[in-house]
Amino acid sequence: MAYKTYEVAVIGGGVTGSAIAYHLAKAGVKVVLVEKGDICSGASATNPGFCVLTYREDPVVMELALQQRREWDDLSQELGVNLEYECTGGLIPISNQQELEVLAGLVQNCHNWGLKQVEIVKSDRAVEQERALDPTKIIAAVYCPWEGRINPFKLTLSLADRARLLGAHIMTGAEVTGMEVARGNVKTIHTLQGDIKADVIFCAAGAWTRKVLSLAGASLPVEYERGEAMVSIASPPTIRGMVTDGSFFVREKEKPPMVAGACLAQTKSGNIVLAQATTQIKNHDRSSTYAGPIAVAKKVLYYFPKLSDLEILRMWGGIVAYTPDRQPLFGFLPNPKNLFVVVGFHSAIGIAPVLGRIVKDVYLKGKSQYDFTAYSPLRFLQ
Ligand SMILES: Cc1cc2nc3c(=O)[nH]c(=O)nc-3n(C[C@H](O)[C@H](O)[C@H](O)COP(=O)(O)OP(=O)(O)OC[C@H]3O[C@@H](n4cnc5c(N)ncnc54)[C@H](O)[C@@H]3O)c2cc1C
Repeated sequence: MAYKTYEVAVIGGGVTGSAIAYHLAKAGVKVVLVEKGDICSGASATNPGFCVLTYREDPVVMELALQQRREWDDLSQELGVNLEYECTGGLIPISNQQELEVLAGLVQNCHNWGLKQVEIVKSDRAVEQERALDPTKIIAAVYCPWEGRINPFKLTLSLADRARLLGAHIMTGAEVTGMEVARGNVKTIHTLQGDIKADVIFCAAGAWTRKVLSLAGASLPVEYERGEAMVSIASPPTIRGMVTDGSFFVREKEKPPMVAGACLAQTKSGNIVLAQATTQIKNHDRSSTYAGPIAVAKKVLYYFPKLSDLEILRMWGGIVAYTPDRQPLFGFLPNPKNLFVVVGFHSAIGIAPVLGRIVKDVYLKGKSQYDFTAYSPLRFLQ
């Protein structure tokens, strides 16, 4: 039987897998990107494209996000596509004392981790940033002038497309359905579009990671949650930057089944994206619920009553992976040894291209300039 053979196979054509394929192809590596649906059909197609800085999980990921921020314009040029990156500023409205205390800690972390351009501001300054915000609903806000947003579709699709132009093979409709393991390595990958062989496999399958790993007899505790969002018809300029609800940062003692808050941004074409209601789920169900958009709308109207006539065009759900310690997974598995997992980086849109380059460095040089030891899968396999 004739197999197509590659140096590297990347499983998952979201922003993470597309960025990995792009950097490997650019470096001359013979790579295949294997996607079960279309490129950008998972979580990467469901978000408003916030390029998050203020709520990064640790100093390493903050470094990645700051590096990515420096590179957006160059990346647009390199890909030959306007990625619509805009440094719009980001605001976290704070509605009570408990949120204020938690977010003061977050601002301190940012300062410690190299992001000095973030502060707690009074409501009048917050309204300068977001004119539609009702100042009577907040006691303060976190403001970061360095944050912005990008078009996540253009980003993901153009990374994959440029990878293809550089020689990568892009397989869509090619669900990975099995892996043959021999002598501790994956030898053959079965897909709905035929079998392939690769020396090294990068699994960037997001919320489907656990399922993909199980095909190779491996297991890691990768869970996922559904985030629901909606988008309005094109509207006059109303929301300037990215807005993230302060309530998301306060951990309830008993987590309710659904957590909803007001996260907003307005696209270049005028559509306002409203997110998000988050629910822990087990069945990969990405459908929009009845309760989710209503809960989001209530929170949005609390802070932005002027949006009461906003006409909603459509709503959706997306599923995002996370691990029990909410830290990413990045590294080779002990068995099969040629299977490398890259998953669980939250808000991956704002770091994926840099992450793709790091994967390329690890593949070609065996290391990168960043210390990712804490993200090793081995922490769950002892
Ligand atoms: C409502 C919402 C709002 C969000 N807002 C933001 C935001 O503003 N900014 C931000 O940075 N992040 C945001 N996120 C998170 C962001 O979307 C994710 O971090 C990011 O898209 C993850 O990308 P990924 O490539 O790792 O995963 P995905 O995009 O999910 O890609 C994984 C891919 O693997 C494929 N796959 C799975 N199984 C197989 C298989 N067996 N064979 C082949 N292919 C397979 C899937 O089809 C999928 O395309 C948001 C998420 C949601 C749901």
